[in-house]
Amino acid sequence: MASAKKFLAGWGRYPVQECITWRPERASGLYLPTPMISRGQGRSYGDAALNENGNVVLTERVNRFLDFDSDSGELRAEAGVTLAEIIDVCLPRGWFLPVTPGTKFVSLGGCIAADVHGKNHHRDGAFSSAVESFSLIVADGTVLNCSRNENSDVFWATVGGMGLTGAIKDVSLRLRPVETARVIAKHQKAQDLEQAFTLLAEEDDSNEYTVAWIDCLARGRSLGRSVVMHGRHATAEELPASKSVLATGGRKVRTLPIDLPSFALNSVSVSLFNAIYYRREGGKQKSFVTDIDRYFYPLDSIHHWNRLYGKRGFVQYQCVLPINTIDTAFEGIKRILEQLSASRRASFLAVLKRLGPESGGLLSFPQSGYTLALDLPVRGKDLFAMLDRLDDIVVKAGGRVYLAKDARLGRDSFEAMYPRLSEWREVKQRIDPNNHFDSSMARRLGLTNE
Ligand SMILES: Cc1cc2nc3c(=O)[nH]c(=O)nc-3n(C[C@H](O)[C@H](O)[C@H](O)COP(=O)(O)OP(=O)(O)OC[C@H]3O[C@@H](n4cnc5c(N)ncnc54)[C@H](O)[C@@H]3O)c2cc1C
Repeated sequence: MASAKKFLAGWGRYPVQECITWRPERASGLYLPTPMISRGQGRSYGDAALNENGNVVLTERVNRFLDFDSDSGELRAEAGVTLAEIIDVCLPRGWFLPVTPGTKFVSLGGCIAADVHGKNHHRDGAFSSAVESFSLIVADGTVLNCSRNENSDVFWATVGGMGLTGAIKDVSLRLRPVETARVIAKHQKAQDLEQAFTLLAEEDDSNEYTVAWIDCLARGRSLGRSVVMHGRHATAEELPASKSVLATGGRKVRTLPIDLPSFALNSVSVSLFNAIYYRREGGKQKSFVTDIDRYFYPLDSIHHWNRLYGKRGFVQYQCVLPINTIDTAFEGIKRILEQLSASRRASFLAVLKRLGPESGGLLSFPQSGYTLALDLPVRGKDLFAMLDRLDDIVVKAGGRVYLAKDARLGRDSFEAMYPRLSEWREVKQRIDPNNHFDSSMARRLGLTNE
């Protein structure tokens, strides 16, 4: 297998690092005898799938379906298979992903390594909840079968373990049955943060999926004003008889052809956009039918939308604050929004969501509480200093920052955020004592260079 030196970045295009890339055609090539990290679709935002001056194994061609039972919805596939490919094959047969992130251009391996969550986390948990088992190529090149019953410690260290326990080779997953490829959605306006929290906490059947878009430039009494978006899968009965209920319809995909100048997204343009969006989307208070692509993957309709932020790229800051008491989460998120709004930094995309209980993954991100995600262009000297201040708020509240989105978290904050880190280190030390699996993120956070 030939290698090539390449400058690589995550979705945020920050940082950019030179790596030695390998692109195997078969699962046996997912393992190299020299130190390495796996990379799926490169949709993590920062340096999780980077290994500066080291090996990066691209899994994209190891993407075969191995078995699918269309009666039970059980699927076995190689780790490079993407969620888009699963939807293409399985949705017409009445099966959908039990948990999906906000893009379908991610690999199965990447979804397990980050233990990704979706808009239904408060009800259905993280991606690992749908994973029956996977096989993992470990440091000495042998393959371990991992499930809740077999090598369970390695299973839970790999779920959310950012590729550092081994290379996931193939995955057995349980899909969920759906009657249609449509979603019944409903929007509600929340005038401030308190109302957004209340609406996100409402339990009813129309809230199978819930997320809030938040206007992070709103200040004063409007701080935290949001559009809360609910959704659930439509039943066949709810659609007109003429419609082919499981057809996905196909959506026009556009490409952002160039990098926008870095000043294009500023507090004035984002404020204007936010005002229009709040009025337009918040106005959709009656239920409406939409399709799976529009509901779950609105951003996928513009390829390379990350060029919006200009050549210097952007970072996504996603944190979760636990609801030990509802006030901890509320006060913490309020302080974060106040800091952001005071700095006049414009986050074009800002999302607030309620999360349910932890999965058991030793480094998994989700915990019962509220998560806020902010996209911020890499611009201005004080950006990273401000994010450090946000970390302090998160640590004090007992929360954490999401590694799949991270490019800059400091080691001390990381250690304070992940209470099961020592258990993870024990497994890592046992199965990979020489840090065969290593990445730029791992070195930054002291996961492989204590
Ligand atoms: C537009 C957008 C929306 C998103 N929305 C969400 C969301 O709603 N919820 C959420 O949780 N996340 C979300 N994400 C983040 C994304 O789901 C995760 O970063 C996911 O891990 C990306 O998968 P990937 O295949 O691109 O992995 P990569 O980015 O290539 O890698 C991510 C990690 O997985 C590891 N990895 C990849 N393949 C393997 C393998 N075969 N074996 C072992 N380790 C492996 C890598 O080493 C790395 O540590 C979003 C990202 C984007 C760009």
